[in-house]
Amino acid sequence: MDKVLRIISILEKEIEIDWFLKNQDPFKVLIKTLLSQRTRDENTDRASRRLFSKFKNARQLAKANLNDIERLIKPSGFYRVKARRIKEISRALVKNNGKVPKDIDGLLNLPGIGRKTANCVLVYAYGEPSIPIDTHCHRIPNRIGLVKTKNPEQTESELMRIVPKDKWIEFNELFVKFGQRICKPVKPLCYECPIERLCEYENKSLK
Ligand code: SF4
Repeated sequence: MDKVLRIISILEKEIEIDWFLKNQDPFKVLIKTLLSQRTRDENTDRASRRLFSKFKNARQLAKANLNDIERLIKPSGFYRVKARRIKEISRALVKNNGKVPKDIDGLLNLPGIGRKTANCVLVYAYGEPSIPIDTHCHRIPNRIGLVKTKNPEQTESELMRIVPKDKWIEFNELFVKFGQRICKPVKPLCYECPIERLCEYENKSLK
């Protein structure tokens, strides 16, 4: 079995994933992913709960007062920039009947939307095979020797080349959870890592 498949197969047994349960409202996935930039999960959850308790969709947010949006999403940090972006995106969507595009090009055409956010919408809202590359999904495959890339874009295309397509959709969640719990950025828990024997990292902390 390929090394990448062996790693995925071990992580599948160790880490519970629930991407298929997410199948969420595409607009909420889009805005929540935007809010998640440069903040912790709990701040994202708090900000998005506050925002969506008052504004339910793109039409309402397109007409919303900017100060109200800023106040509601303040827990997510960088709230002024994020609030402006939310309004711009909402206005762009309203011109598109309020619908979030279901294809990568349509999503990338929205103001300020990059590949990670677009791919998150494809996976978590539409269940389309894609590999969103966040900090964990770029860092870990490089650290363990699956890829040798300089930026998330290169990592995405390398992973799409070596990971079988039927594994794309779970890849992000598997590696995010693995990165949060075991293969942490600093002091990874190599001594309890289920893929230690397959990992090429030179500075393992084995106690
Ligand atoms: S052995 Fe350490 S560095 Fe390698 S994957 Fe496991 S936790 Fe990460």
